[in-house]
Amino acid sequence: MDTEAVAKELRETHRKVFGQDATGAFSAPGRVNLIGEHTDYAGGFVMPAAIDFATVCTVSPREDDRYEVYSANFDEHAAFTRDTLPAKSRQSWSDYPFGVLHVLREEGMEIPGFSMSILGDVPLGAGLSSSASIEVATELALLSLAAKTLPGPEMALLAQRAENSYVGVNTGIMDQFIACCGKRDNALLLDCRSLESKLAPIPPNIDLIICNTMVKHAHAGGEYNTRRAEVEQATAVLSSHRPEIKLLRDATPEDLEQWGHEMPLNVLKRARHIITDSLRAQAAAAALDRGDLRELGKLMGEAHASFRDDFEASCKEADLMVELANKQPGLVGARITGGGFGGCTVNLVEDQHAEAFAGAVAQGYEQQTGIKPDVFRCHASDGAQRVG
Ligand code: ADP
Ligand code: MG
Repeated sequence: MDTEAVAKELRETHRKVFGQDATGAFSAPGRVNLIGEHTDYAGGFVMPAAIDFATVCTVSPREDDRYEVYSANFDEHAAFTRDTLPAKSRQSWSDYPFGVLHVLREEGMEIPGFSMSILGDVPLGAGLSSSASIEVATELALLSLAAKTLPGPEMALLAQRAENSYVGVNTGIMDQFIACCGKRDNALLLDCRSLESKLAPIPPNIDLIICNTMVKHAHAGGEYNTRRAEVEQATAVLSSHRPEIKLLRDATPEDLEQWGHEMPLNVLKRARHIITDSLRAQAAAAALDRGDLRELGKLMGEAHASFRDDFEASCKEADLMVELANKQPGLVGARITGGGFGGCTVNLVEDQHAEAFAGAVAQGYEQQTGIKPDVFRCHASDGAQRVG
């Protein structure tokens, strides 16, 4: 997205819709996770990158005590007053901005009445976290009204709280963190427990190509809860031997070798995925640091196999998408990304091969499944910022 151009367009929309000039414009990106899947709630490592798809938001204070938001994507309004703001979700897109507003008010911030306009190009519900991008963009706008600034990690925690406790979606910290703290041309190795992070440079000639399988298997929600329960079961077995193991993040492959036989096989396999994927995320960041793309590609391949065979959370469509990618020239690495059971794959591809890659994978996938996939060509981008 050309955020400057979109912000300009949105300022005009804002003027038409509210009859006021916006006093500020803010943007926050979507994201893709390159490696480290389901490691977040185990306190482990993930390595996402912010992408050049974003949500932009313009805002102006009002004389009255109304909170008015307008989504240009939906051409819809929602409004409350300072006294009528609901305390929880109404199952609407406006839960996201109002959830953030609610959390900031809980933090004691005085936020005057405002008019807000929102326009984004992060595809909704495709697994690229349009939700974190709308939360963080609106958070920056609301903070500006309260004349406050917060460090990125603190902003991320508040946006996560809005999503968890207001919208009612139980997500880790990754999406909001990268939406706040992403850096152009870099992925970020994030320690999901300490929230320490470190940049991992992506060479400028490498494109991030995201292929959407367009499937989300209906059992995904139930399986997600099963996986979390299995992970807890594995953690309990290991910490009965080594009490310092509070989360799987604290366990090593050697711990599993020693005590894994005390677990049902499925539990052992889930734990093995998480423990090794967290290590792979760290190794991948080190590989990027030394510019070792061959090693990065190998780690992504292993991560996909681990997610498919040990975590058993891939699906035949995502496996096919990765197989097709593996046959293309210019591929550095490919794997399924996101929660699993459908969704997207992420592919690192040399830019001179990117167009041919996107065409060949899309064509092969459509031939074999009858489904036309969405393919997004992205670059690692900066996190949330004021525009203009
Ligand atoms: P994802 O985060 O993978 O895109 P989610 O279901 O978590 O999927 O979040 C998508 C929801 O976020 C949308 O259905 C909508 O409610 C809200 N949203 C995101 N961007 C916008 C926008 N520009 N305008 C209005 N609502 C938006
Ligand atoms: Mg989301």
